Amino acid sequence: MPYKNKNYSCYCAARNKAWEVLIHCKITSLPLNLNLIAEYYKIKIIPYSKAKNYKNFNQEIKDGDGFSTILNSQKIIYFNDKNRTIQRIRFTIAHELGHCLLEHDLIKTKYRNSETGLPEDSIEEIQANVFARDI
Ligand SMILES: [Zn+2]
Repeated sequence: MPYKNKNYSCYCAARNKAWEVLIHCKITSLPLNLNLIAEYYKIKIIPYSKAKNYKNFNQEIKDGDGFSTILNSQKIIYFNDKNRTIQRIRFTIAHELGHCLLEHDLIKTKYRNSETGLPEDSIEEIQANVFARDI
């Protein structure tokens, strides 16, 4: 079935990207240093509490776990550091790194909010979750 094959190839692309990143960043031990990956690929990570443009975030962004965007060709991951556990923050950053490194379109920003995650998650959301899990 071609539909299933397409899903499988999208899964493989996300899984392989996670392995490729570990190899390129020479990561061989746990716990994984997400900052090291971000630095290697020149992606900025900014907590909401330090975001200069926080007042411009809409309510959906403020309520979400985080998002990635691109400003003047600089990829940036913003994450919600208010009322979130470190485990949840780490998964959010790993998920957003997935969007950035799988070359997803960062212009049409989707805000990660696992509380309101819809069952019809797009293939890109599934790929970002596969990447986050496998990394
Ligand atoms: Zn996402």
